[in-house]
Amino acid sequence: MKTENIPYKIYLSESEMPQNWYNVRADMKNKPAPLVNPGTGKPMGFDDLRPVFCDELIEQELDNDTPYIPIPQEIRDFYKMYRPSPLVRAYCLEEKLGTPAKIYYKCEGNNTSGSHKLNSAIAQAYYAKKQGLKGVTTETGAGQWGTALSMACAYLGLDLKVFMVKCSYEQKPFRREVMRTYGASVTPSPSNTTNVGRAILAKAPDTTGSLGCAISEAVEVATTTPGYRYVLGSVLNQVLLHQSVIGLETKIALDKYGITPDIIIGCAGGGSNLGGLIAPFMGEKLRGEKDYRFIAVEPASCPSFTRGVFAYDFCDTGMVCPLAKMYTLGSGFIPSANHAGGLRYHGMSPILSQLYHDGLMEARSVEQTSVFEAAEYFARTEGILPAPESSHAIRAAIDEALKCKETGEEKTIVFGLTGTGYFDLVAYQRFNDHEMTDTIPTDEQLAASIAKLPKVAE
Ligand SMILES: *Cc1c(COP(=O)(O)O)cnc(C)c1O
Repeated sequence: MKTENIPYKIYLSESEMPQNWYNVRADMKNKPAPLVNPGTGKPMGFDDLRPVFCDELIEQELDNDTPYIPIPQEIRDFYKMYRPSPLVRAYCLEEKLGTPAKIYYKCEGNNTSGSHKLNSAIAQAYYAKKQGLKGVTTETGAGQWGTALSMACAYLGLDLKVFMVKCSYEQKPFRREVMRTYGASVTPSPSNTTNVGRAILAKAPDTTGSLGCAISEAVEVATTTPGYRYVLGSVLNQVLLHQSVIGLETKIALDKYGITPDIIIGCAGGGSNLGGLIAPFMGEKLRGEKDYRFIAVEPASCPSFTRGVFAYDFCDTGMVCPLAKMYTLGSGFIPSANHAGGLRYHGMSPILSQLYHDGLMEARSVEQTSVFEAAEYFARTEGILPAPESSHAIRAAIDEALKCKETGEEKTIVFGLTGTGYFDLVAYQRFNDHEMTDTIPTDEQLAASIAKLPKVAE
């Protein structure tokens, strides 16, 4: 079956692993817009952000100029426990599809958290520890971020308080137990343990919660508890920086075999895996060295890129966070209880938003049932049970490979397989029982939520 001199799995040796993260902002002509204080409308500097975030992470957040930032030795050592992750040539999938396309996927699910989120979790926990903090707070939607962070905090001896979106807390009790095993405390959000949670519950007692609500609660606890800061698993510039390790490894592996991708595909929730995967390739494109097509794939139920607006918005529902300029559906938008929990965020990374706005990448949305069809097809051919989030990228990769079948083009497609789906079996059950539905917000629903965007003078 294997027809070329390229192995099924391209591994790197430890000595080939990246020693620096790559900061794509350094090569962007139009930098992502700064975070803005909702009260004053002014860009937030180091001192404004200090009550919320760890110091060194703020420096990374604000650094639009340094292209390479060294990965501290302790983090590189931790990475070695589960990295480098394999880059897999999907020979079986290609054959089953009968496509002349060459398909590769970067497989980030080989750790207990089951996703790429550990790449940033260990970095953020490391800087919190280095600053002498007692602990951190965060939110988690599907649970992957909370799990990854609980692993990192256990390793470094930091306390962790997780606010978990209520519908996930109820749908995914096993994730919750993994987090508790690693020593985290887990509270369903919205909860009555915070002011903002109580306010949200008073307005909507039956809400199933959202990432936006959970962020508000986690920020409130971080800023009112001495020795704590808040950490976030996606969207922020610093998170995309840490996730660049995915793209750097991918590029080293491809370069080893002289392979140049034509299309690079990733699912997009807050943009961290996609931003990390494409970073070094986007750098080449920005510097005019090479050209690639980049495709962001999002759920039709939460279509920030494809149906949102590019504007300043709150990162959270309780409106306690700074404003970010991004593609957004409005911070009050609560998507239907889609099974790709990690993609249910109303906004998008400011870096990717700017790149998309400047026409440097594409975006498309896909419906949940067609995503699970792709997941099932992939599981049956490549053997891996993919996370529902990752399956959005699989859907688009299969669609692009089928286009190549029609045209006879031998394109090289790389996609990010962000994680495994062992904790998503309720979703697979719905799919297998033909009970899965597609919920797409109406134009009126989106317009109502977008109408409530904060007014910011630019
Ligand atoms: C969180 C998550 C995503 C989406 O988050 P991004 O920040 O957009 O990468 C995708 N896949 C998996 C497995 C996740 O856990």
